[in-house]
Amino acid sequence: MSDDVKIGIVGAAGRMGQMLVRQVTATAGCRVAGATEGAKSHSLGKDAGAVAGIGDLGVVIIEDPAAMIANVDVVIDFTVPAATAEHARLAAQAEAALIAGTTGLNAEQEEAVRLAARHVAVVRASNFSVGVTLLLALTEQVAGILGPDYDVEILEMHHRHKVDAPSGTAISLGEAAAKGRGVDLAKVRQAVRDGHTGARPQGQIGFATLRGGDVVGDHTVIFAGEGERVELGHKAASRQVFAAGAVRAALWTRGKPSGLYSMKHVLGFAK
Ligand code: NAD
Repeated sequence: MSDDVKIGIVGAAGRMGQMLVRQVTATAGCRVAGATEGAKSHSLGKDAGAVAGIGDLGVVIIEDPAAMIANVDVVIDFTVPAATAEHARLAAQAEAALIAGTTGLNAEQEEAVRLAARHVAVVRASNFSVGVTLLLALTEQVAGILGPDYDVEILEMHHRHKVDAPSGTAISLGEAAAKGRGVDLAKVRQAVRDGHTGARPQGQIGFATLRGGDVVGDHTVIFAGEGERVELGHKAASRQVFAAGAVRAALWTRGKPSGLYSMKHVLGFAK
């Protein structure tokens, strides 16, 4: 127990936050040692376990992230972009490792995460599932083999509450395809098509976004050639796959030097 990795969960009342509280509590070798929420949350002052539906853990959800992070070994963050940038600064100051899962960060906010990685171990992923980590590796490989004669289109669907588009995972899949082809995604990315678009330029990487219902996360990478299509896909049926990956990453950071890591490192796909 005293040897347990102490995990702090920011945004502990969110969809992922609650899942993380349950996952950490169910995992040997770690425990929930702190929890925060945003200033407007109705869960402030409540027990993180009670909010997550598993009964009191003796961890009250507080508003002050600095006070919480001072008492933990690892911070897990699935919140909102501005909060993630601030949590990254605080984790670096307190020498706590950081698991950063929030998507939709702008360049400055991503830079705050990268800066934290100079001081502590940071695992950054737009998708913490084992399946999508594998899909990223396969997408890079297939894009390299098929080359620009096969048009790459990335289709994603998420629940109606999702606020950013295309999903962070779809963008990561686009980056993987671009890397496989040896091009820069920013130069070939086509996120929206509407009206008289003209013919599809060769080499473009296209995105299509669907939103609705309670879909946890579906992604398909389509390689469309003359006379055939190759499709690689992943469907998440529960947020538990992301929480399990994030907790695995949190335990993995123990003893790791500072640096920016991905789930490929955690799962041993990358050196
Ligand atoms: P959510 O809206 O249910 O939860 C976000 C929580 O953060 C809310 O409870 C909100 O009150 C809280 N919050 C806001 N500001 C805060 C602050 N300053 N301090 C502490 N908490 C604060 O959203 P969600 O579905 O749980 O998703 C959260 C993020 O995680 C999104 O960006 C989503 O895209 C991303 N996500 C990533 C993965 C992955 O594997 N990387 C998987 C699922 C979701």
